[in-house]
Amino acid sequence: MSERFDVVVIGAGPAGYTAAIRAAQLGLKVACVDDWRDAQGGPALGGTCLNAGCIPSKALLETSELYAQVRDHGPVHGLQFKGLSLDLAAMMAHKDKVVSELTRGIATLFKANGVTWIPGRGKLQPKNVVEISGKSAQKLEAEHVILASGSTPVNLKNAPFDGQRIVDSLDALAFAEVPRRIGIIGAGVVGLELGSVWRRLGSEVVLLEAQENFLAMADEQVAREAFKQFTAQGLDIRLGARVLDTRQEKNAVTVRYQKENAGHEESVERLIVAVGRRPNTDGLYANETGLLLDEWGFVHVDEHCRTNLPNVHAVGDVVRGPMLAHKGMEEGVMVAERIAGHASAVDYDLVPSVIYTQPEIAWIGKTEQALKSAGEPYRAGVFPFAANGRAKAMGAASGFVKMLADARTDRVRGVHMVGPVCSELIAAAGLAMSFGASSEDIMLTMFAHPTLSEALHESALAVAGRAIHLAQPRHTKT
Ligand code: NAD
Repeated sequence: MSERFDVVVIGAGPAGYTAAIRAAQLGLKVACVDDWRDAQGGPALGGTCLNAGCIPSKALLETSELYAQVRDHGPVHGLQFKGLSLDLAAMMAHKDKVVSELTRGIATLFKANGVTWIPGRGKLQPKNVVEISGKSAQKLEAEHVILASGSTPVNLKNAPFDGQRIVDSLDALAFAEVPRRIGIIGAGVVGLELGSVWRRLGSEVVLLEAQENFLAMADEQVAREAFKQFTAQGLDIRLGARVLDTRQEKNAVTVRYQKENAGHEESVERLIVAVGRRPNTDGLYANETGLLLDEWGFVHVDEHCRTNLPNVHAVGDVVRGPMLAHKGMEEGVMVAERIAGHASAVDYDLVPSVIYTQPEIAWIGKTEQALKSAGEPYRAGVFPFAANGRAKAMGAASGFVKMLADARTDRVRGVHMVGPVCSELIAAAGLAMSFGASSEDIMLTMFAHPTLSEALHESALAVAGRAIHLAQPRHTKT
């Protein structure tokens, strides 16, 4: 027996569930198929983001930051704590509660919008049939199919996951004890966020990063400031480190790596491998469909997320572009709306990036090095949080906001931040840029005082050499 739907979505992560909800809002008959199982073995919506990524890591980042703040910075604020201790099991229980409330929330939204949730593994067959494997094989006929199967951590041949000593980002969110010493392969987003969590809780953390440049995708000035601060926090970041192999011992794992033409060894209790993710395409489609993948194994799509097959679309981590939940969500909305006949699009030039360390790192648009190498003339305005009253009061007055504006038109081309709560501050920059704002537009906007967002305002003023709380050379002022 097969049932017919207007839209069948394979995958209920942020890209898939958003596509399903939006399509249902637009009056389409929608089913969403997902095979995620929670720790109790029950079906769960939300994919990696809710179950194994953004949300559980954010819960641990928040709690560990609170702990580190109280322990390390309480006395600065005149707060003395006697007998402060960590209950790791309670911290994990809080994380699990947040995850389960949010995943159940998606189920409620599906119900409210009339989306049919089908737990099981979906496979695209010819003629837009989706076959569900599970206890009872089921077939769905679809006018449109949206592939949103997500991604999986890359497994390194010379440091293969064993779920115990050598773990991926999911297992690293659930250690039962604080390891004495942790090694992390890859000082990217996952490595830095998880390294920060366990460092705050007391682990020694060594990060082995293959590249010579730290955070190569970020603005270089931001990356330099972040490196300085992370190192001061005790994260031991070794750049240009090429992992050769790993050796399991009784209570440890030894990593051998090469750096500056010399061999080195590190013995750690746990080794987290965080070297990127790969798209989930195994078993996603039958070969007879003729679905095209690109040279990196992503489902090939155009700018509107159309695959090479009629009425088959793909969104989120399984297609090109940054593996970010919000990018996938916007793609999900765009595809649902295009199916319903709207002319929606995603602005891929304005995808914000955030690293939830302390200080936080956030940016949107072009980096200074990208503008330089493209030969595009620009003016930069940098404002340090050291001159921001709110940041001083918070005891978090490090880092800066940097604005890059086109030297000819003054249009904002990029905003880069490292400092307190930058994950939230970047939204204002994104909003301004999505309206095509100039730095003068931001300069002429009134910001509340005393807030961190004044640093964004002052960075716009600094583009014109007019920052009020910054001594700038007279010749730069306009
Ligand atoms: P990443 O690409 O951010 O970082 C991987 C790092 O590993 C890179 O710096 C790379 O140079 C390094 N590397 C690769 N191979 C290596 C090797 N053999 N030895 C040593 N270093 C090596 O990937 P990630 O941190 O695993 O994150 C995966 C994806 O999930 C990314 O796309 C990321 O954007 C996304 N993510 C985003 C957030 C967020 O938005 N805050 C949080 C977590 C994950």
